[in-house]
Amino acid sequence: MVNSEFTVEIAVITSVRKLSSGLALALLAAVVMAQTSTNLQRPCDNCTEWNKSQKPFKVYGNTYYVGPHGLSSVLLTSPQGHILIDGALAESAPLIAANIRSLGFRLKDVKLIVNSHVHYDHGGGVAALQRLSGAEIAASPWSAEVLTKSGIGSGDPQFTELRPVALVPHVRVVRDGETLKIAGLEVTAHFTPGHTPGGTSWTWQSCERGNCLNMVYADSLSAISADNFRFSDNRTYPNAVQDFEKSFAFLRSTPCDVLLTPHPEASGLWARLEQRRRGRRPGSMLTPGACKELAGRAEAQLQRRLAAERR
Ligand SMILES: [Zn+2]
Repeated sequence: MVNSEFTVEIAVITSVRKLSSGLALALLAAVVMAQTSTNLQRPCDNCTEWNKSQKPFKVYGNTYYVGPHGLSSVLLTSPQGHILIDGALAESAPLIAANIRSLGFRLKDVKLIVNSHVHYDHGGGVAALQRLSGAEIAASPWSAEVLTKSGIGSGDPQFTELRPVALVPHVRVVRDGETLKIAGLEVTAHFTPGHTPGGTSWTWQSCERGNCLNMVYADSLSAISADNFRFSDNRTYPNAVQDFEKSFAFLRSTPCDVLLTPHPEASGLWARLEQRRRGRRPGSMLTPGACKELAGRAEAQLQRRLAAERR
């Protein structure tokens, strides 16, 4: 069903090339809208579970968790303004906004929003949160294209199975390794593609009483795709395997005291929080070795996937 939709779209695009450009554009817009509305109706079995409310809490220093229970959204704060990482689902935006306010921060003090990868479960709420705050949005070139133009990215391994994200008017494009300095805060972009071609991990430092920790928000590195996609051989994303390898190398080498992930359970966040509540590790969310372990798990999963593609 998904393939035939796509084939019809290509056939229409080919035929409209022969028509006048105005008419062709109108037809193309109609096709894109039809495709988008089809995708919007895609069921999301996990969304209700993911979007369960979660009381916001301090992770460490000026870093707070403000997402719903199943999808991370992380706020870095300073007296001059804040940076928000990820917006979870479109329907998570009001919940994230309420969490930020309940911590005593103002939405309009959020000066920058960044994203791990542009899928509806991490980038879906970005547009609404941008409107509420007036923040600038910054992203990798591929992600910026998706956020401003298409809502779903070509070359995305899950292309035919995704809901589009709501578009935003403007995105500042960042370079791999670029440090963004805003409102007295610094956050560095590390391109970690593979799960999507534009995936980005973010690092910064947070301090408590002079003890500064290396915080890592590591993007998803799972080799998951639509049925018709092969990581080992794909025209829309030919460098997928090399991209994953670059991303694993980043995770293995980056200083990593506290690991956070777009899906919080992927870095054991709830278990760590529970330990802290029980006083076993007071004041600490430390994850020694967790970035390397995550790289190892993701690499093993990719190898299993590539082996399955060879069969
Ligand atoms: Zn994803």
